[in-house]
Amino acid sequence: MVIDIQIKGEPVTMLSCSNCDRRWWQGLEGSLTLDAVLGIAADT
Ligand SMILES: [Zn+2]
Repeated sequence: MVIDIQIKGEPVTMLSCSNCDRRWWQGLEGSLTLDAVLGIAADT
């Protein structure tokens, strides 16, 4: 499953694998950790 969202104007794609229940994110500069995604969301 692929979900495109925007966090603070930054495009972030959330990908999830239904086989192994893994989730990860991709931003403009490559893959993001959950911490990085939360960091963008917290950044004002
Ligand atoms: Zn998988």
